[in-house]
Amino acid sequence: MKKKVGIIGGGASGLFTACLLKNLASRNDVEVTILEKNPVPGKKLTLTGHGRCNITNRKPASELKNGYHEAGNFLYPALKEFGPDDTIAFFENELGFKTKEEDNNRIFPVCDSAVKVRDAIVSYISDSTDIICGINVLGIKKENDFEVSTSKGKYNFDYLVLACGGSSFPQTGSAGDSYKFAKGFGHTVIQAQAALASVNADERSAKLTGNLSGVSLTANVSVYCNDRKTASFCGEMMFTDFGLTGPAVMELSREIPGDISGMSVWIELDLIPSLSDEEFDLAFQDLIRDHPDSKITTLLSGYIPASVALEVASLAGISGLYAQSFTRENRKKAVREIKHLKIGIDQLPSLEKAYVTRGGVSLKEIDRKTFGSKLISGLYITGEAVDIDGVSGGYNLQACMSEAYLVTKDILGLK
Ligand SMILES: Cc1cc2nc3c(=O)[nH]c(=O)nc-3n(C[C@H](O)[C@H](O)[C@H](O)COP(=O)(O)OP(=O)(O)OC[C@H]3O[C@@H](n4cnc5c(N)ncnc54)[C@H](O)[C@@H]3O)c2cc1C
Repeated sequence: MKKKVGIIGGGASGLFTACLLKNLASRNDVEVTILEKNPVPGKKLTLTGHGRCNITNRKPASELKNGYHEAGNFLYPALKEFGPDDTIAFFENELGFKTKEEDNNRIFPVCDSAVKVRDAIVSYISDSTDIICGINVLGIKKENDFEVSTSKGKYNFDYLVLACGGSSFPQTGSAGDSYKFAKGFGHTVIQAQAALASVNADERSAKLTGNLSGVSLTANVSVYCNDRKTASFCGEMMFTDFGLTGPAVMELSREIPGDISGMSVWIELDLIPSLSDEEFDLAFQDLIRDHPDSKITTLLSGYIPASVALEVASLAGISGLYAQSFTRENRKKAVREIKHLKIGIDQLPSLEKAYVTRGGVSLKEIDRKTFGSKLISGLYITGEAVDIDGVSGGYNLQACMSEAYLVTKDILGLK
């Protein structure tokens, strides 16, 4: 008797599971069906890596796990069993892609095409998997087997993989249905919030970020909640007409609490992270002494972009001043604005444009060795549906791949 496996969602997680089921099953072991809401599978996958698909990150599992925040230890066994080298080998040997390594150990296909990755996966599984697109799963029940109600009738499966994503980038199909189905089975769902997202500034700060829109620089970016620094990250960031974006800001976006009502929340930018406050103050004093006839904004432009120097000078009330008339008090104000520039936040980063979702099905109810539900036998929950989010750099697709491997092994009864 063939095992009937249903996969809800033809995103990265569902497609990878179908790939590994084909790769590891004997031909007659399983009958695999993907039910995908969109007219074509892998819509979000085709957007990954700015259309180039950053498939994984070549770090040892012991280091890689640190990129998954609170879930690192939970995911560690999966990363050890099927890690970046296994993902690369699968892409090269099974899917026929040559891969290349870029900065920070990020791995891409040499062809730089996420669409080609999606197409190759679909072609790879086309003889082993029934991929049914344009079908909306509406509800799931389990009695003897899983009964799945869809917009096009009922389906029955022995095993069910819930891989219908989180709530981020809902225009690609992931609109939170995983949570609805998991809750229906009694699972706890941790509130979804944006991760790897741009951040909107409050009205006052948006004037400043808008004036600097498009300017990028390296900064130390910190989140403050009610006067307490809760996280910080140093890297590239960019000002926009609505607030802040860029890698450092996006990495930190998950640290903005899910409910900020009644809280005072801001992002603090240290625009010269290579120097401490004292070091910059001393260097600034030297500059002022050595160039008495220079405008202060000109001197600051040696450290930060000229447009940023003008904005912070205006905030510090020192616009137009020359070094010779600069007081100690003026200097302290300038140092404060440059090293502790405050960008007020009065709304949460939006899930609409977030790359991944923080939150999802509670890991307490998932078996870390199989990604099977601890509540319902035969049910597996993977990908963004579960409460795991990784930093950028190929971590999120690697998590989908590692989890898909554990699910496959468990369904096939492999040791
Ligand atoms: C712009 C962007 C760039 C990214 N770049 C990278 C990158 O380079 N590297 C990286 O590691 N990660 C990247 N990510 C993150 C990565 O794409 C996701 O973590 C990953 O796609 C999650 O896979 P998933 O299968 O869990 O969910 P999804 O890919 O969202 O797939 C879920 C699927 O389920 C379907 N579905 C939902 N509800 C139903 C239903 N009721 N019935 C039927 N089908 C349903 C959806 O249509 C969708 O196709 C990026 C994300 C974005 C948005």
